Amino acid sequence: TMDAPLPNHTRVFTVSNQKGGVGKTTTTVNMAAAFAKAGARVLVIDLDPQGNASTALGVEHTADIPSVYDVLIDDFPLADVVQSSPESESLFCAPSTIHLAGAEIELVSQVAREHRLRTALDEFLASSEETWHYVLIDCPPSLGLLTINAFVAAREVFIPIQCEYYALEGLSQLLGSIELIQKHLNPTLSLTTILLTMFDGRTNLANQVADDVRTHFTDRVLTTVIPRSVRVSEAPSFGQTVISYDPTGVGAISYLEAAAEIARRGFSSEHDKEARG
Ligand code: ADP
Ligand code: MG
Repeated sequence: TMDAPLPNHTRVFTVSNQKGGVGKTTTTVNMAAAFAKAGARVLVIDLDPQGNASTALGVEHTADIPSVYDVLIDDFPLADVVQSSPESESLFCAPSTIHLAGAEIELVSQVAREHRLRTALDEFLASSEETWHYVLIDCPPSLGLLTINAFVAAREVFIPIQCEYYALEGLSQLLGSIELIQKHLNPTLSLTTILLTMFDGRTNLANQVADDVRTHFTDRVLTTVIPRSVRVSEAPSFGQTVISYDPTGVGAISYLEAAAEIARRGFSSEHDKEARG
């Protein structure tokens, strides 16, 4: 990761896939820890009421803790809910609490309901004395208002794909949603990054799905794949990412490589043009 440059502007990713269990949260926290390890200042925004990203990053998220819920519903400044993660000095998390489960419904009647996270994040970045290199938003497995808030707040969409039979089938719905967001709410949103996760190279199926994804999405697919690894799945139960839990294992190494790849690629203006049609 030594050769990976820091971005000269804040790169805001939403890690999205409307399917559950494909590795969104695992990817969010491990990418975030990998960027931080490479010297970046990183914020994770946990938008999933289950709070798995908050758990994995070792930050408190019991019901009484100020959280993203208060930001979305009660206009709390994002700075008031951000906590530092014990993972790294430069890694921070805006936690989710159980209250966020109600936000999906409560948001419906709010003014500028799709833009609330965007407004809070813009204000946070503008008023912070620090330079933030990466913001990663962990989304719930649905295409509701929480996920829409993430699509409006972000500039880049990051899709983790599990190499299984139905992987591509579910994607068309997600791509359709991204198009609608680009058209109506966030014209600068761009699908820049796809990562193959839980990859088992010994099976023909995984290789077939990986080939299909690469044929369809070409250079947006990272060369690095994340192999299936018990260490990766164990880390959260210790309130850790695999980057600190098993720093020399295949899981940590592949997430560090994926982070370096994203840093080296930067933000392609080609994708930008496409996003604008
Ligand atoms: P999502 O956020 O999309 O629902 P998760 O990140 O929670 O998905 O992952 C789903 C399950 O798969 C979790 O139990 C997680 O520990 C496991 N998992 C994710 N990535 C890997 C991996 N590379 N190897 C082994 N297990 C993994
Ligand atoms: Mg999740």
